[in-house]
Amino acid sequence: MKEPKVFDKIIEVKNVTKTFDDVTVIDDLNLSIRRGQFVTLLGPSGCGKTTLLRMIAGFTAPTKGNIFIEGQDVTDMPPYKRPVNTVFQKYALFPHLNVFKNVAFGLKLKKIYDGDKVDKKGKVTPVFRKLNKAEIEEKVNRALKLVGLDDYGYRDINSLSGGQQQRVAIARALVCEPKVLLLDEPLGALDLKMRKEMQIELKKMHRELGITFIFVTHDQEEALTMSDIVVVLNDGSIQQIGTPKQVYDEPANAFVADFIGESNVLSGTMLRDYCVSFLGAEVECEDKGFGKNEQVDLVIRPEDIHLFPIGSGKGQLSGKVLSAVFKGTYYEMEILASNYEFTVQSTVEAKPGTEVEMSVEPSGIHIMKKLRTINEFEGEIDGENSVWFCDGSFEVDTSLEKGTKVKVFVPFDGVELTDDEDDGVIGANVTHVLYKGTYYQVQVYTDTDEDFFVDTSDEWDLGDRVGIKLDKSKMRLEVVTEEESDA
Ligand code: ATP
Repeated sequence: MKEPKVFDKIIEVKNVTKTFDDVTVIDDLNLSIRRGQFVTLLGPSGCGKTTLLRMIAGFTAPTKGNIFIEGQDVTDMPPYKRPVNTVFQKYALFPHLNVFKNVAFGLKLKKIYDGDKVDKKGKVTPVFRKLNKAEIEEKVNRALKLVGLDDYGYRDINSLSGGQQQRVAIARALVCEPKVLLLDEPLGALDLKMRKEMQIELKKMHRELGITFIFVTHDQEEALTMSDIVVVLNDGSIQQIGTPKQVYDEPANAFVADFIGESNVLSGTMLRDYCVSFLGAEVECEDKGFGKNEQVDLVIRPEDIHLFPIGSGKGQLSGKVLSAVFKGTYYEMEILASNYEFTVQSTVEAKPGTEVEMSVEPSGIHIMKKLRTINEFEGEIDGENSVWFCDGSFEVDTSLEKGTKVKVFVPFDGVELTDDEDDGVIGANVTHVLYKGTYYQVQVYTDTDEDFFVDTSDEWDLGDRVGIKLDKSKMRLEVVTEEESDA
């Protein structure tokens, strides 16, 4: 047989969209995964991690786009024909079979290449055969050894702990020698100690096997400790792809900064290259290339803030310590400065009630483009002083005629959220809440698949069902030209 071509990119997801009942769960996503890497899909619950993994496995078909494995388009290929295997959070083992038989199950169906047959005319056809008993035994024992269950073959599944059962599930997935192992929150059901142990073991297995692992988790610490590459997802879109260090040290946007690690995320203005202003202070940073006075998000990690006594003149901001908690190796303090509650970590305690100066080195400030500066939607005038978009008719001051196609611009502080969905024009769910000092920036997701960003002084919880009202005095309409509309 001809040597197969080795593709460096083992998995390619190209322009993949997945919708369930008109709701977009994965939105025109592109992702390449290199052979042999440990890649983690990380994001909050409901962001589409499992859906993406299931599409790579073949259990869910994309609505649009294609999936390639080793350069071959597998979009329409059934799961069992793909060179991948999946380990699920719920182990899905057969309770009536012992450990050995559970692991051997897939092998009994597997056929292996057994040379070529040449007919009288010289035509060559590859021959496949089932594995014999000795081969199955050898493969199962090797897989069990790999997961540390060498002597457990005869054991009843129900006699094993959760961690041991998960190891059996991993052995069962590995025994067929997949090129890619897909792991869907495989440690989610384990207690913390077992989880930590299994994290180390999985890393070890990855090193030993040299195959590609794609691991799904919503636990950022787990993602940072285990992965070569982290893919941060939110709302069906990739927010950042990078090494754990890159996503921690150089978050691409406020969502990543807030989701990964503890952080202080603030709004600021880039005054010029290497100089940002926030909370009334002008501070040196290492970033350049932003527009003059461009509004930006900035993140300061708690460990990058240094404290000095008040009056020392060493800090850029001063504040009052609200609380201090000893966390084993450092103190975590909440410090109120210019109405922003900073989280600060230091080996030196500042007592609650004291005034302090806070200083940040330029390398401790990370500047990010704002995800969005205004809410923008496409709509149509649907009556006198009203515009239709996001499946709702909103009041607006306009002299435009009914039927005119428009772009609707709504600033973040022009959106009001109501407790009772019926008090709003349309309903939505809260998907992200970011504390910005003097206010909260809340992201809500409408039933028509649109995001609104909202600046509000009210505190909302993730998943809250809300109504949306708009302040007509803050809305702006722009007529869409025919060319724009055709495009
Ligand atoms: P979690 O960490 O909670 O498992 P996730 O990031 O893996 O979340 P998915 O399971 O991919 O998220 O789900 C993304 C969204 O798609 C959710 O809103 C979910 O309800 C929806 N969804 C997933 N599968 C289906 C389905 N078969 N039918 C309808 N909606 C679905």
